[in-house]
Amino acid sequence: MKIESLASSSSGNCYVIDDGHNKLLLEGGIPYKELVSKLNKLHLKITDFVGCVVSHSHNDHAKAMKDISRFILVYASVETLEQKYVKGHTLKSARRIDIGSYQVISFNTEHDCPGSLGFIIRSYKTGESLLFLTDTKYIKFNLRNFKFNYVMIECNYIDSILDEQEINFALKKRLLNSHMSLTTCVKTLKSFDLSECKEIYLIHLSDHRSDEQLMKKTIASEFGIVTKVCKKHGGYI
Ligand SMILES: [Zn+2]
Ligand SMILES: [Zn+2]
Repeated sequence: MKIESLASSSSGNCYVIDDGHNKLLLEGGIPYKELVSKLNKLHLKITDFVGCVVSHSHNDHAKAMKDISRFILVYASVETLEQKYVKGHTLKSARRIDIGSYQVISFNTEHDCPGSLGFIIRSYKTGESLLFLTDTKYIKFNLRNFKFNYVMIECNYIDSILDEQEINFALKKRLLNSHMSLTTCVKTLKSFDLSECKEIYLIHLSDHRSDEQLMKKTIASEFGIVTKVCKKHGGYI
C-alpha cells in the first residue's frame, strides 16, 4: 500500500492511499483548489479516487468535503454529513463497508466533535491493513486482534512543551481533551499488534507544541519500525 500525505496539521489534513488497484482519499481538510493542484503534481485528478473517507466535520478534515462530493462519493458519520450539508454514504461505528478494493471498519474516537471516527482500512488486493487514527485523546477500543501493516496516528503535542507554555486554561483543557500527546501515542501503539507493521506515520502535529525530530526518534527507537512524520504542507521527514 502506498501512502502520500498532501497536508497534515491542525490547519489541514489530506492523504492518498493506493493499493495499486484503487486510490482512496482520506480526509478533505484543505481548500478544494489546493487539493486539485496538489493532486495535479502527483498526476492525479479527483475522479481517480473510489471515494473520500472523512473522520469528522472540523474544517481541517472536512473543508473541501462538499466540493469533493460533487465528483466522488464521500463517506462519513451522519453527524459529519449533516454538519457539512453533504449528501454522502453514512459510516457507523463498529460497522464495515466495502469501498472499491478496500474494506473500511469505522470506530468512535474521543474528540470534541460529535460523530468523530477512526478507520481500519484493509486492501482486498494486497491483504494489507492500515489504521487511521486522528483527533482523539486516546482510544477506548482494544484493537489487539488486528495486525496493522501501516499505522497513521496523531502525535499532536509533547506533554512537557504544553506544561512549559503559558497558554490559556481553556486551550490547554481543549488540547488535553481532544488531541493525542506523544506519551499517549506511545502507549496506544504499545496496545497494538505491530509484529507485521512496516511503517508508522505520525500525523496532525501541532505547530507550536510538537518537535518532529524528537517524535520521530522516540517512536522509531521504541518500536524499531520505520517512522515518518507528515509535514504541514505535504510530504514527510
Ligand atoms: Zn484536526
Ligand atoms: Zn478535530
